Amino acid sequence: MKMQINGNAVEACSGEFFNIVNPATGELVDRVPKGTENDASMAVEAASSAFNGWASISPQQRAGILYRAVGIVRQRKDELAVLLTREQGKPLAEAKNEIEGFAHVLEYYCGLASSFHGDFVPVPQNGYAFTVKKPLGICAAIIPWNMPALIMAWKIGPALISGNTFVLKPASNTPLTNLTLASILSEAGLPPGVLNIVTGSGEVVGESLVKSSKVKKISFTGEARTGKRVAELAAGGMKRVTLELGGSDPMLVCDDAKLEDAVLGALRGRFYNCGQTCTAVKRLFVFESVAEEFIKKLEAGIRNLRVGNGMHENSDMGPLNNRRQWKYIRELVADVEEKDEGRIVTGGRVPESSACSKGYFFEPTLVVDVLRESRLLKEEVFGPVLPVVRVKNLDEAIEEANNTCYGLGASIWTKNLDNARKGCEQLNAGIIWLNQHLKVAPEVPFGGTRQSGIGRENGPDSLSEYLDLKTVMLKI
Ligand code: NDP
Repeated sequence: MKMQINGNAVEACSGEFFNIVNPATGELVDRVPKGTENDASMAVEAASSAFNGWASISPQQRAGILYRAVGIVRQRKDELAVLLTREQGKPLAEAKNEIEGFAHVLEYYCGLASSFHGDFVPVPQNGYAFTVKKPLGICAAIIPWNMPALIMAWKIGPALISGNTFVLKPASNTPLTNLTLASILSEAGLPPGVLNIVTGSGEVVGESLVKSSKVKKISFTGEARTGKRVAELAAGGMKRVTLELGGSDPMLVCDDAKLEDAVLGALRGRFYNCGQTCTAVKRLFVFESVAEEFIKKLEAGIRNLRVGNGMHENSDMGPLNNRRQWKYIRELVADVEEKDEGRIVTGGRVPESSACSKGYFFEPTLVVDVLRESRLLKEEVFGPVLPVVRVKNLDEAIEEANNTCYGLGASIWTKNLDNARKGCEQLNAGIIWLNQHLKVAPEVPFGGTRQSGIGRENGPDSLSEYLDLKTVMLKI
């Protein structure tokens, strides 16, 4: 597949390519151009040329084009899901869910087309003032490989509907679905240059976009360390930034929780997308009084999960997306075993079946009685390993849960209203779930506190991240 610049499918200036490999089989899926700084500049120029035209049509006209794209995406959902599974590894059902998520997010922003406008404000002793909202200009995004379609929609949805033009740098492991979605947007009538996709490394293409003086805003999702680098570079040009970084979400299970529901929540919350979700359940705190029963039920649920190629209908969990993550998870679990930092109840190995022999598979793993100093609780574990800690009561659970540098999501499982209120008030996170975990929706703000990032995506307020506000004072 080629890059998409100014409505054309193009190769890189260097003429070089890199391979996209299926993480379940090691097979070559496709190859894409290895973009250079020049390619990034060409994409920025294309976005610049397209800006006046796109900004001058009405938001409703822009929504009309995006709506057409949503229709095509839904028609081609099955084919897009197969592509996503082949490059990312997730089970087909999850891939379909993500493609539907892409469509739903764009649809949501189309629905906001009539909602953003300035205000008319009486000013005492002066007369009146009015405000005008204008697009920023050229915006860029750098995205990761765990949810490439959904995260693309979170970035382009608010940016395009509010009249900005865009350059997207996909993750180097998963650019194919992003490229195909961009070609669908062109087919739906998006003018050339409004959305450009440049494939290539973060260090080269990503940094060029962040440094470009023409790019007014950067939206980044990925690792906290990379986010800090992006913020440093963006500060030079005083650009707006949104940073969606990692998380180490706690799940708190109280003694009055409906344990069957909490078990299902933990299974989905931890093992969906092979544990590679920023808001996955990464640390679980359960009251001592129900811990034995809960752990038994959880173990049974985990043993029932079928690991395999996401293309096979009976796979509940696919492989990790890439060798780096696979190596990290294997080493982490080996380290925990060696230091005796917890008891592995189930999992902890690379599956032995021949169907898993060529991919980055790892068994869904449950580790209980994890020591407080373990890396399992200190680091963001981006894979299928669930550490469980027993706690005496809610105060201890909240204290442990907040003992992290992250603050993306947190969930509390209880039927007691006092517990629920206390959890919602005292847990440090951008999003709190009550008797559920993981669900995100374009209708509500999403983002973290502390090292989990800056700014919010989704919800009506996300449009202001892509709009400039001008005030006009009138003396009448
Ligand atoms: P990275 O931060 O390494 O990569 C994310 C994106 O940044 C990729 O497109 C990457 O390009 C690019 N990039 C890498 N280096 C630079 C740089 N110097 N300048 C600009 N861009 C750069 O994260 P991963 O892709 O490895 O994702 C895993 C991590 O991201 C996990 O820790 C996870 O928690 C976090 N994450 C957070 C999410 C959230 O919403 N909070 C969502 C998803 C993941 P390339 O692919 O070419 O390296």
